[in-house]
Amino acid sequence: MNVIIHRGQNQIGGNIIEVTAENTRILLDVGLELDQKEVTLPEIDGLFDNPSFDAVFISHYHGDHLGLAYYIDNRIPLYIGEASYRIVKAADDYKGLESITPSGFLRHLQPIVVGNITVTPFLCDHSAFDSYMLLCEADGEKILYTGDFRSNGRKSFDRLLGALPDKVDKLICEGTTLSRKTQLPLKESDLEEQAVIEFRRATGPIFVLQSSTNIDRIVTMYRAAKRSGRVFLQEVYMADVTSAIGGRIPNPSFDDVYAFLTDPQRHDALVKYRRMGKERMAKTPFVMCVRSSMLRYLKGLAKLMSFEGGLLVYSMWSGYQQQPAMSRFIAECEEMGLKVVSLHTSGHADPDTIRALIEKVQPTEIIPIHTENAGWFAEESK
Ligand SMILES: [Zn+2]
Ligand SMILES: [Zn+2]
Repeated sequence: MNVIIHRGQNQIGGNIIEVTAENTRILLDVGLELDQKEVTLPEIDGLFDNPSFDAVFISHYHGDHLGLAYYIDNRIPLYIGEASYRIVKAADDYKGLESITPSGFLRHLQPIVVGNITVTPFLCDHSAFDSYMLLCEADGEKILYTGDFRSNGRKSFDRLLGALPDKVDKLICEGTTLSRKTQLPLKESDLEEQAVIEFRRATGPIFVLQSSTNIDRIVTMYRAAKRSGRVFLQEVYMADVTSAIGGRIPNPSFDDVYAFLTDPQRHDALVKYRRMGKERMAKTPFVMCVRSSMLRYLKGLAKLMSFEGGLLVYSMWSGYQQQPAMSRFIAECEEMGLKVVSLHTSGHADPDTIRALIEKVQPTEIIPIHTENAGWFAEESK
């Protein structure tokens, strides 16, 4: 098999990886570059017209892996996890966008055969729900692509390692954290304990800035809210996402989860959910998930209740704080009397986790991706 990294080798995000075997040509991820203001389609023959790819596999729903899927020729079969697709569809519906149309779904350890190549997904932990590593096999050769992954989530990393092959020819491995300040990443469950301490100590309202599609984090914050005797409030966009997965994922069908609306234009959306309005919120201890676009809503709420003794919990990558809308939101929240607390842990593998993966799959060759420090891998293999 041949591997061409069209994009993502020496940058974080925008992954596009081509794998070919005889007459079969597939892509692993078709990501948009992070921070790209306008979409520019890369020059890849047979992807956007006159299709010559046999399939496209998406490891997970983050835009830097999925974003170009909206632009590729729809005659090319597309595969993604089923829960991932439900999340993407709910988010697209909310935004009024036309969604992707997968041909089939990735399932843990269930191989998909495309021409000469067999692709086997391995469910892994990441800040996107339903993420997969992808193993490509043809002619007795094995290539493992990690997508984005971590070992500090609630899924067992040891169990994943146990399921992976003992030997691969090529390992295409993410290295996001290798150029960032490395601290030992907190486990998602430890983060929950920290949140419980903060939430119990707070005497006012609690707002959490976090991604509406980071399901693990929603679970963490919900559990901490429950353990500190607070209801959990999700804006309609998040309620749409969590309800699309349903089951054990905290959503407004839970007794202690309520939806709220920040855009009165979308009143229809609330019919689906049990809601809590501002007047009732003002009398109820809560943890509310917020986005930086909700400043006006929070100011309205501050007229009905005191924010004293309350918290703004920042639970995202620290880099986003540089964005103007975000820094303004945080500053205004402080002015309203909220104390800003950072409670976050990485969605990406730390160096020891990458070492453990390499140790397990014994790659003949390592192809770094999604990193600004590809040299780390060469140093490691010395
Ligand atoms: Zn990524
Ligand atoms: Zn990701």
